[in-house]
Amino acid sequence: MSGNSKSDQNYPYSAATALAQSLGNIDEKTQAVVPPVHVATTYIRGADNTYPTGLVYSRDNNPTYKPVEALLCQLEQGQDAIVFSSGMAAATAVFQGLRPGDHVLAPKVMYWALRNWLLNFATDWGLQIEFIDMTDIAAVQQHLQPQRTKLVWLETPGNPLWCISDIAAIAECAHAAGAQVAVDSTCATPLLSQPLRLGADIVMHSATKYLNGHSDVIAGALIAARDDAYWQRIRQVRAQGGAVPSPHDASQLLRGMRTMHLRVRESCTNAQYIAEQLERHDAVAEVLYPGLPSFAGHEIAKQQMQGGFGGMLSVRLKGGAEAAIHVAAHTKLWKRATSLGGVESLIEHRASVEGPGTPCPDDLLRMSCGIEDREELLNDFLQALSN
Ligand SMILES: *Cc1c(COP(=O)(O)O)cnc(C)c1O
Repeated sequence: MSGNSKSDQNYPYSAATALAQSLGNIDEKTQAVVPPVHVATTYIRGADNTYPTGLVYSRDNNPTYKPVEALLCQLEQGQDAIVFSSGMAAATAVFQGLRPGDHVLAPKVMYWALRNWLLNFATDWGLQIEFIDMTDIAAVQQHLQPQRTKLVWLETPGNPLWCISDIAAIAECAHAAGAQVAVDSTCATPLLSQPLRLGADIVMHSATKYLNGHSDVIAGALIAARDDAYWQRIRQVRAQGGAVPSPHDASQLLRGMRTMHLRVRESCTNAQYIAEQLERHDAVAEVLYPGLPSFAGHEIAKQQMQGGFGGMLSVRLKGGAEAAIHVAAHTKLWKRATSLGGVESLIEHRASVEGPGTPCPDDLLRMSCGIEDREELLNDFLQALSN
């Protein structure tokens, strides 16, 4: 099995239909409407000493991944996709595909665990990483080093301030300097924006979040615009390093993805409503949400996101850290936990998670809107605020 999961340019249906029917694939052998879980770790070698199906050993590849990868390829309009054991495994594979001395630009505001990995590991292995303001095209241009910068890493909307970077504009200047562009599109989901169509080379998702959507699988994914030498190297990072999901998790992930369009739509509607309501509240200093006209990145978000601005928002309270921790302590529906993109709404005092050195203000609550009743979510937050 080559593992290549090209998007089908001729697939005539929408993302909603592709998701609900998992591209309409049925199991050839049994005609089952849900693909089987392949638990085998190893495959028979033919008497002629070759592997008839291309499958050898389940650390290299497992057929349970195939429908997930094909669906991701279709949604992101990519040439190939691979699933990983976590979002971090997917993201770090992109950096592990680089070589010592390669220069990388990454955002100052980005997913904290990945920023820490870049600082703690990637730099020790010889990558030259500069953290810059990715909302500022002039800054990107200024820091690109032609032929030395190999990768520009974006995250948009970016955790936890939801900064928007202009994927198309950055891809244009990165490519002119000979660099590839990878986008952590976890919070945008494959439904709200398709970075490859805007010129990015690689898209990354923490499939733990909106793709699976039920807070019960850790997984990640990468989708590539082209099957080039860099991508082949990234594939080898997974095949040789072994950061593969369990077949059961891959199957569970596909089940979750089948309702992603419904969940994402509800989360976006809830987030937009709650952001608008909280923006008017006396105790609130600022609501950070790309769907608000007052938000700095709103105009670019309108261009590169369709159908909603995501389910994530952050609220800064006039009462500072104390007020933020107080609110998180007094919500009942909003569950106090890290992570995002599940059907249940989560709230967290993000600075407490990120620790020293974080660009996250300590008066900030990060909120992941689930698919509950929006009035009930709003009222629960308001009662905690006045409690
Ligand atoms: C959760 C997350 C990750 C890491 O994914 P895991 O599946 O937890 O390893 C990376 N980027 C973003 C934006 C995330 O939200």
